[in-house]
Parts: sequence; C-alpha cells; structure tokens
Amino acid sequence: MDNKRRATLEIEKEEFKKIGHQLIDKIADYIDHIDNHLITTNKSNLEIKSLLGQGRLPDTGLPVIDIVEKATELLFDNSLLNGHPKFMGYITSSAAPIGMLAELLVGAVNPNVGAQLISPMATEIEKQTIQWLAEFIGLSKDYGGILVSGGNMANFTAFLAARTAKGPSIIKSDGLLAFPKQMMIYCSKNTHTWVDKAAILFGHGANSIRWIPTDNSNKIDLDLLEQAINTDIRAGHQPFIIVASGGDVSTGTVDDLKALGKMSKKYDLWFHIDGAYGIPAAVIPELKPIFDGIEEADSLALDPHKWLYSPLEAGCTLVKNSKHLTDTYSSHPEYYNFKKEGDELTQNYYEYGLQNSRGFRALKIWMALQQVGRKGYEKLIGDDIALSKLLYQMADQHSSLEAISQNLSITNFRFIPVDGHQYEDDYLNTINETLLNELQAGGEVFLSHALVFGKYCLRSCIVNFRTTEKDISEIIDIIVREGSKIHEALSVK
Ligand SMILES: *Cc1c(COP(=O)(O)O)cnc(C)c1O
Repeated sequence: MDNKRRATLEIEKEEFKKIGHQLIDKIADYIDHIDNHLITTNKSNLEIKSLLGQGRLPDTGLPVIDIVEKATELLFDNSLLNGHPKFMGYITSSAAPIGMLAELLVGAVNPNVGAQLISPMATEIEKQTIQWLAEFIGLSKDYGGILVSGGNMANFTAFLAARTAKGPSIIKSDGLLAFPKQMMIYCSKNTHTWVDKAAILFGHGANSIRWIPTDNSNKIDLDLLEQAINTDIRAGHQPFIIVASGGDVSTGTVDDLKALGKMSKKYDLWFHIDGAYGIPAAVIPELKPIFDGIEEADSLALDPHKWLYSPLEAGCTLVKNSKHLTDTYSSHPEYYNFKKEGDELTQNYYEYGLQNSRGFRALKIWMALQQVGRKGYEKLIGDDIALSKLLYQMADQHSSLEAISQNLSITNFRFIPVDGHQYEDDYLNTINETLLNELQAGGEVFLSHALVFGKYCLRSCIVNFRTTEKDISEIIDIIVREGSKIHEALSVK
C-alpha cells in the first residue's frame, strides 16, 4: 500500500486527464464558434439567477465531472462574449488563447510571487516581463515595476509612491494630518475615476484634485494647469503630482507628455502617466511622436489586460527608479526572513506594492509577448487602429451617421435621422442613448457610450484581434437599421 493520503479534494490522475481534456475540447470549440453567438445573453438577471438555482451549499461532495460540465455550460451560455469580433464596448479585450493555457499552468504550480524564496522562477519571469514591458513602450529596461490586478491598482500603486517621494517624511511616521499643507493633484477633466478613488481612499480628499479643463484638441490645457499650480502654491498648498492621460477612456486622446514632463520638473512634481489603455500603442513607430515625453515619467500605468490581450486580471506599474516603490512599500518585520544569505539579486515583490501573497500574473503576459513578439503586437495594435479609422470614415460618409472623434482605437460617432429635419442635440442624445441600449440588448454588436463636447456618442474601442473589416461594415448597417427603427417609434409618439 502506498502512503498517499487520498484526500477528497484530490482528483485521481486518469480522471484529471479525462476531465481536463474534455474541458480543453469544449474551450477550443467555444473559441472557434464565438462569432456564431449573440454577444450577450438577453436573459434578465432574475432568469440568470434562477438558472443557477438556489441550491444550498452541499454537505458532501459531488462528482468533479458534473461540477465542471455544469460550470462550463452556465458560463458559456450566459456570459458576455468579449472575445466576439463585434464586441467593442468599454476597454475590455478579447483574451489571448495562450493566456488561457498560462492560467491553467499558473494554477498547477501556484507560486506565491510575494517573495522570491517561494517563487524562484516565477519571480524571475515577472522581473523579465516588467523589463520587456518597459522596452515595449520605448523605455529603458532599467525601469522597475510590479504587476497588479489592473489599471486602478497600477495607478494607486504609483500614486502612493509619488506621495512618499514628494511628501514630507512625517507622513510615514505620523500620517497626513500631521502635515499642515494640503497635497494637491493635477489632471485633466478627462482622467479616469481612479484619481477620485485614490484621493478619497488615501486620505487627501476629493477636493485635493484639480480637474483641469482641456483645450480644443481635448488635451489638458497647459496654461490653465500652470495657473492652478501657482494659485495653489500661493494659497499655501503643496502640489505633488501631475497625472497625464496616455489615451483617455472616452476619446483616446494623449496629453502633451513632453510639456507635462517639463512642467513637473519646473515645479518639482511627480510625473505620472496613466497609459492603462493607450500606452501599448507606443510600440508603433509612426505613433511614437504622440507619446513623445514618456521617458520623462516617474511612473506609468499600463494594462496588459487591455491592449496586450491578457485574460483578466493584469495591470502594471512602471517606475523610473524602483527605490520609490521599496521606499513606499517595504517594511521588514522579524518573521520575514526572505533574503537568501549573500544573494544580492533577491527581489521580493511584497516590498514593491500593496499585496503580500501574490498570484503569478506575469506568465500570461510573458507567454503572449513571446508568441507574437514585438512585430506581432505592432501589427495587432496597428490593425485595431486601422479598423477604428475605417469605422470613423464609414460613419463620416454615411448620411445617417455623424463621425465625432477618432484617436488610437477609439471612435465616437452618432446616429442622425435623415428626413429633412434639423434635430436638436437633446433629441439626438435621447435617440442615441436609446439606440445604445437597444444595440447592447440585441447582442449583434456591443458598443459603449461617451459624452463628447456635449454629444451623446456611440463609442467603439477596438482592442479585439478578431474584428475584421467585414465586421465594421456590418456594424454600420446594424446601427443604421436599429437607429431608424427607434427614430420611427419616437416620431409616432
Ligand atoms: C481602464 C482604465 C483604467 C482602469 O483600469 P482597470 O483595469 O479597469 O482597473 C484607468 N485608466 C485608464 C486610462 C483606463 O483606460
């Protein structure tokens, strides 16, 4: 008799293989047929809830095969398919299949990438991934960083490093209240809501944010920014960080990074770039000029789970000098003895961010970067941008559509009824809002919305390696067809 414990949680080898193979077969079919399905279920939340059933937590176990089959069916039939070629809502990408395999492997090895001692190879892979990501967007490979759950966390991680670097040390020992000056944050009015969360949660308060208006190219207005900084200094406040958009969520606009970098230096402020969505576009040589100045950044946020196609979750904070992360996040309790004697190379990621135990997010990014390489990503991202431009052109040329903006892979446009009437923005906003909801519910195409210069727009963000030119022209037809129906319905009322 062998000495195995045979715990109920164990799955016997042959059964594991059988169930695993079946699951892989189903996933392969699901991916292969993803465009045959509606993008999202038209069932209500209540229907979904009742499909799941109100079963109680079982006292004793069920067969693994049944559990896996049921979960597969529930999820495949009742999820929003962001891998569908006509999904272009929000900024959620199609997941790279190699990332799915990576996740399985990660679960098998289960390294805890909080400390190198307990994740020797995984830590090295994360270090290499960080280096590659820095090089990918044109920075020196000496940048440090850490992988986190997403853009919000990547920005938070940098925000706190900025505060440590630019604030007085009394904050670390006695807290913000011990510092009499209000520490001020500057960003354009288009900046993602993470700034709000950060200011509130980290004790600065929402009023510490100066939301600077944008100029007519939708970039942060540099004169107004400088005025705001000076006004705050005169009022006795302490400015500490400028946050630039490296592709804002509504329109994809990239701020003037070079000028912001300069201004940060002039006033001794931390310069952070939120490139969660847009910064991977810096891999494309022709787009380099848009990102001119990224090398000025003290920190950047980038989301591999957006334009690098990692399955959720994967965000990344990059910093020019890793010391700013360890200054902020490292503390050495007695019971942590994670440094191998004499091993200077040890890197313990718990000292670089908020988490202690950490999952192995790097693998899926590292694998995809190797699968397609820099050139592959250049093409993937470039094709998304070309499709977005095509959508803009087709909207521009269509009499029932108005093209509003196009940057990176985000296009904003709206439906306009053509019946000889001149419609006010109020009505156009109503019709487009109704249209968006109809389109989302219909499941043929999935867009989101943006308010651009007061206009309610249909917003498409293509971070989708399955979308084709044919999809774009079909999307145009669907939108015009549905828009006309809604306009008719609204007109007879
Ligand atoms: C998506 C996004 C975020 C938030 O990222 P999550 O991954 O959703 O947490 C922040 N900033 C920008 C510019 C984004 O595009």
